[in-house]
Amino acid sequence: MIVATTRYAAVPVATLASGMEVSVPLHEVRGTAGDGPTLGLSACLHGDEQVSTEILYRFVQGLDVGQLKGRVLIVPVANALAYESITRHTPLDMQNLNRVFPGGGEGFFTHRLAGVLVREFLDKLDYYVDLHAGGVYPTVDYVYITNAEALSRAFGTAVLFRPSGGVQYGGSTAAYMRERNIPSVTVELGGGPVDQAAYVARGIAGIQNIMRTIGMLAGDPAPAPPQTVLRTLLTLRPTAGGMLVPEVTTLHTRLGKGTVLGRTVSPYSFDELEVFRAPFEPSLTVLVRQAVCRIDPGDFGYMIGDLSTAE
Ligand SMILES: [Zn+2]
Repeated sequence: MIVATTRYAAVPVATLASGMEVSVPLHEVRGTAGDGPTLGLSACLHGDEQVSTEILYRFVQGLDVGQLKGRVLIVPVANALAYESITRHTPLDMQNLNRVFPGGGEGFFTHRLAGVLVREFLDKLDYYVDLHAGGVYPTVDYVYITNAEALSRAFGTAVLFRPSGGVQYGGSTAAYMRERNIPSVTVELGGGPVDQAAYVARGIAGIQNIMRTIGMLAGDPAPAPPQTVLRTLLTLRPTAGGMLVPEVTTLHTRLGKGTVLGRTVSPYSFDELEVFRAPFEPSLTVLVRQAVCRIDPGDFGYMIGDLSTAE
């Protein structure tokens, strides 16, 4: 019988010019219900997606090692500097951690961080779930189908996205794990200036259902709800920064082409700078902004699915 262990380590990455040590937090939870695979869970590769960390915190609180087969490795904050500054990228070198995998020892700080995550975490996994969210202002709700469709579906969200070629972004954890043929699920859930409790509950339930599907937790997995699989998911990126005034604020809403989603106005002159419209007939909202907020040129303004090509 396996001895129950829950271990925590702060794995060193680098010493900063300030003398502060940056590390990767790594939890290891071993089950006592029997042997099984190693599942990896990570959050906050992007530091402004902090609901993902709460999902892992509450997931661990509710995890009974007596019911668990195998082990779970958990990185609740993959990019501590970005978490501290509530930014998508690492403030030290302005790099996007989820575009530089597998990283390594020769690059910028963020490449070194990726290299540590590969060595100490990703390369030890049999299954992987990477949690992302919408950030400070946007709220998002979909799951990628990368190389493990049954597991992506088992997370239980109503909307999934199948990027052509399997991955959306080179240098992401999903691209790295797909290349290594490790079943991987990338989740985009929650975020924005709204109550996160429902997203947290769904995140925990989704992870648990994946664990039932791969035999790490007992019981039959809950059947998935009716699911829409998008093949085209367009990001509407603002050409002008300013104050975004949303008109459509609900997720997974079907809209006719041309429906006004929101408008960017100048917070200075009050001139209208840009109008965002639903691009497809019909369109489905996947990332929205639910409150008036500052928006930057080039940012994730809206993400809209094309229902005419959906499965
Ligand atoms: Zn992210």
